[in-house]
Amino acid sequence: MNFLPLIESKREGQSLAPDQIRAFIRQFTAGQIPDYQMAAMLMAIFFRGLDTAETTALTLAMRDSGDVLRFPKDRRPLVDKHSTGGIGDKVSLPLAPLLACLGFRVPMISGRGLGITGGTLDKLDSIPGFQTLLPADKIIAQVQRVGCVICGQTDKMVPADKKIYALRDASGTVPSIPLITASILSKKLAENLDALILDVKFGCAAFMQTRADARRLARAMVALGNRCGTHTRALLTDMDTPLGRAAGNWLEVRESVACLDPLAPEASGLADLRTLVRESAAQLLVQTRKSRSLAAARKAAEECLRSGAPRRKWDEMLAAQGANLPACNEKLRRDSTAPVVSPVTAPKAGFVSQCNARIIGEVIRDLGGGRLTREASVNYDVGVDQLAKPGERVARGGVLCRVHAADPAQAAAAAARLQTAFHLSAKRVQPAPLVVEIIS
Ligand code: URA
Repeated sequence: MNFLPLIESKREGQSLAPDQIRAFIRQFTAGQIPDYQMAAMLMAIFFRGLDTAETTALTLAMRDSGDVLRFPKDRRPLVDKHSTGGIGDKVSLPLAPLLACLGFRVPMISGRGLGITGGTLDKLDSIPGFQTLLPADKIIAQVQRVGCVICGQTDKMVPADKKIYALRDASGTVPSIPLITASILSKKLAENLDALILDVKFGCAAFMQTRADARRLARAMVALGNRCGTHTRALLTDMDTPLGRAAGNWLEVRESVACLDPLAPEASGLADLRTLVRESAAQLLVQTRKSRSLAAARKAAEECLRSGAPRRKWDEMLAAQGANLPACNEKLRRDSTAPVVSPVTAPKAGFVSQCNARIIGEVIRDLGGGRLTREASVNYDVGVDQLAKPGERVARGGVLCRVHAADPAQAAAAAARLQTAFHLSAKRVQPAPLVVEIIS
């Protein structure tokens, strides 16, 4: 195939035919198109865009560049969730066992964090013994037996995305709606899902900073997912404030377990996290017609959470993936696994009007809890917890959050920056809504 005319066509704003797109994705994956030509095509797409037929062809070609999971026939629908990422966003952890208890099969293929955004696999890697890399046959077997798995993509799944994403990263072509749509959905479609719920975040710590951009991305992904045969909906959610009260790998696992435990005292302070977990499950119950209305679905999800069954399913999932449960439970009982914990206190009394997720994410990344490069290792123990959230009143000297750090100097530097993440107001503050729109 002569790829140059296709680059030129796209450069001039013309549409490419689906079979041309399929051919160049096949050849690029096989190493028959050089990176410099593919980077030029990505830049042409960045400026000229892709129409619906082109985006569909690109997504399906990327999905088919590797293995697609094939599950046995079963009356339990296959479902998953994808989030565009944020600070303290641990929804996948409690959601997978909840969905399994609600009668779904959940092949939750997740990724690692980069920059300020945390990654589900990094959080799970903080659990003693837990295996995140499983071959396809083990993923399928666990989904059939336990109902859920949370693991990384196998080397054989969607190899085109891995190669293309690396080029986008190096060529300034990541923020393109058709390329993001194809990248995210090709991976989700390779799970062979019946239904998918997307959590598209907007705000200072989100991939899409404005609500309008998040809505454009959500609409594109919902339309394409549905066109490709997976019932897809999206929630537009706020990411100006971290989700929950903890951010940092192990601290988020700890909070996820509290969210699943109806008896845990901390669970009462996790209204936003529980809302998003319950809402994601409720949407999937309606999408798959397991519930007739959203009201009934929300009730079913809440009752299931309260029953304690998802907490037991969590342990079952952990054991199936090799976790050392006694060591994990011992770790859960500890207040902190970092060498230093220090409080960040309020300089005056007031109502929290801002708890800036971007500043908090940057602090955690710089404490070692996130990655600046794909190859960097992460410190699982550092982070923040006990976050005071917008609308809450704190006394002078009261705790705005605690910082968990590797040493006293890092804790002190982090605490000084964390002070700037909080704004306090003398007047009562109404917190912003978390889920602002449902796109179906
Ligand atoms: N996440 C992905 O997986 N792909 C993108 O293009 C952007 C975010």
